[in-house]
Order: sequence, then structure tokens, then C-alpha cells
Amino acid sequence: MHQGRRSSATLYIGSDRGLSSSLCMISSEQIIYLDNNATTQLDPAVIEEMLPFLTKYFGNPSSGYGFGAQVRSAVDLARERVAALLGCEPGEIVFTSCGTESNNAAVNSALQLDPARQHIVTTAVEHSATWRHCDALSKQGCMVTTVGVDAEGNLDLEELGRAITPHTAIISAMWANNETGVVFPVEEIAEMALRNRVLFHTDAIQVVGKIPIRLADSTINSLSLSAHKLHGPKGVGALYVKKRSAFRPSLIGGSQENNRRAGTENVASIVALGKAAECAAAALGDEATRVRAMRDRFEATMLEKVPETFVNGSRGARLPNTSNLSFAGVESGAALAMLDRHRVCCSAGSACRTGSLEASHVLRAMKLSADRTRGSMRFSFGRFNTEAEVDKVLEIVPQVIAKLRSLSPASAVREPTGV
Ligand SMILES: *Cc1c(COP(=O)(O)O)cnc(C)c1O
Repeated sequence: MHQGRRSSATLYIGSDRGLSSSLCMISSEQIIYLDNNATTQLDPAVIEEMLPFLTKYFGNPSSGYGFGAQVRSAVDLARERVAALLGCEPGEIVFTSCGTESNNAAVNSALQLDPARQHIVTTAVEHSATWRHCDALSKQGCMVTTVGVDAEGNLDLEELGRAITPHTAIISAMWANNETGVVFPVEEIAEMALRNRVLFHTDAIQVVGKIPIRLADSTINSLSLSAHKLHGPKGVGALYVKKRSAFRPSLIGGSQENNRRAGTENVASIVALGKAAECAAAALGDEATRVRAMRDRFEATMLEKVPETFVNGSRGARLPNTSNLSFAGVESGAALAMLDRHRVCCSAGSACRTGSLEASHVLRAMKLSADRTRGSMRFSFGRFNTEAEVDKVLEIVPQVIAKLRSLSPASAVREPTGV
């Protein structure tokens, strides 16, 4: 199940007319895509399900006539499918425009609930969708406490406990890290939050579809997900808000999403997210096993074939698909460029920082050496990767690393430049 090759999606997109031909674009058949934490390929089943809502069924779900009501039903079905994947109730799902919006909305709501609670507790390794938002809020007068991690990327729960004050509105901590795949003990954090009567939000954008979730049994107050990280389209996400929790919307206008997120629904994308959730739920166990086996084979072979290779992040509690490796004496930007020439897509730290010289804030928080940080690369596997692709990258990547090491003087290993 779900092992179709990437090219099958082009059946739907079809022709080489329009923008893609005039831009001479690199197509998915030409690449080996190992950057599934940055975004994922749409599942063909998802495209099939969403297309009629861009063509035939263009009604507004808020309209009173049947042509609109049928679209409302499709949005409701999507809500049920997302709820099924999260083990919660459909009424607890709010559709948003992306994971970033979901994270922002949860924190903004918490701050609006009580003017006496304007303190946020977060972690040093959050995605920019959380940390930049917290940074901006701190400039507007909020207090923000950032909890650190150890050398393996594990959260210091005692430090987290000490950070909570009577003024704390919310703890926002990711479930799994997008760069290292390290998984935080969110249930423990949720219990801690409950004991202290503060809200707990988790950015589960890397987790949804990769490991099972049952929010009905959890005290997590809110959770973010994003469709494009689970083989759905870009530009649609969801926020889970636990029932009976107070919530203040960020977008105010129409009464869509039960007054929790105004704006006419992005119907086709919501339908797509629903289908992506259904596919993920159906694939969950098998896919995680298959993807984990690929990741583990890749990582074990790399460690064996390439001297002075290190795994960044705890190998204990880690996502099944992520391998963050450092190659001593290698600059990840140079490796990325060479791999790009081989049409292998992976990333150095997080995609958001590509092109900038700034070192990953995640690896810096883990206090890795400058060389480890500079040589870090993230390989993230997914549904449409094949063992044959793993074979290929296990040829290409060691060659690239050896080539770069032969080009750079030995001093590159020791010299702590720039970053
Ligand atoms: C991708 C990602 C986001 C941002 O989601 P968008 O839908 O792209 O806004 C936030 N947090 C994590 C952990 C992510 O991986």
C-alpha cells in the first residue's frame, strides 16, 4: 500500500503546457527526494479527491442551497477524517491556512484569555513558526522563557517545570523536532501543565502521520498539523483545540469553523487534508516500519562507509524517518550543492535557513562543536522513497563526502570559521 512511484502523480497533472514548461523545471522523476521533513509529494489519491472541488463543486460551504451544502458535507467529512487520525472529536478540529498559522493562533489565544498571564514557556529548538512568533511577542511586552536541551536534543523537564510561574499562559513545545527527529515526552509535559493550571500547545507537524496519536486520552490542550508534511497540499493545516477549552480566534470575520477561524474555507485543500489524513491512518503502522527500515539501513551504512560520521540527536526517541548526520571536515552547504548536481534533495539543518550562513539554532542549542554543526545534513525519508533510491544515495553521498574531504585542507576540520 502507498508504495506507488512518484511519477504516478504526474498522471493527474499531465501535460507539459503552461508555467512548468516555460520555466524549464526539474521534474520529480529526475530526483531522489530525501527531504520529506521540508515537504512531501502529494499522494495521487489526495489529488484525485481534491480536484473536483476546484472544478465542479465550487460552491461556498456557507450557502443555503444544495450546491453549497454538498461542499459543507465534504468539509465535514474531512474534519471527521482528521479527527480519526488524531483520536479526537471532529468538533475539536479547526482548519487553518498552514502549520504556522495553527501555532500562532494557539499562543495568541492563550495570551488573550487572561491579561494577568502574559508569560510563554517554550523550547530552544522550536520551528521558526513558534520561536520567531515568541520573539516578536517578547518585543511587544510578553515574557518568554526558553527551555534548553541536552547534547542529544532531549528537553530538560526539570528546567521546564521551574520555568512555569503564576503568570504563565501557555507552554508551547514541539512533539518532534523537524531537524533531528528527536521526540519530546509531550504527555509528561501535558500532565505538568495541567498540574500547574497552564495551557499546553504542541507543534505536532512532524509527528502527525508518522506515529500514532490519541488525543482523547491526553491532556494536551491544542496541537498543530500541516497537510504538506503528510502528502497533502501546501497552504492548509489544522489546529486541534480540546473541547470545552476557551479559545480566542486570531482571524475575525465570518462565523466559519465554529467562530474559531474566519474566512471562506479553502475547500479543495481541506478535502485534500482529509484524504491525506485517511491515507496516513491506513498506512500508519506499515509505513512507519518500512520507512524506519530504509532510514536505519541508510544510517547504518553511512556510519560504516564514511569515517567520522556522527548522528545528531538521540537515537532513542526519534521519528522513524529522520537521519541528521554530521561529516567531520565537511561544509554542509558545499555537500548540498554537490548532491544537488546529482539531483539528490536533502537539507542542511532546516530548509528555512538555506542560503543563510547562520548555523542551525537546534544544533547550537545542543551545544555541538562548530565542526559538527557546520557539517550537518538532514536526510528525511517518506512514503514514496524506494530501496533502490536508498541504494543510489548510498553510492552518491559517500562519494560526495570523500570528494569534499579530498578538496579541503585537513585544517578545515579544526578551524572554527564564521558560523
Ligand atoms: C513545516 C513545519 C512548520 C510550518 O508548517 P507550514 O504549514 O509550512 O506553515 C512548523 N513546525 C514544524 C515542526 C514543521 O516541520
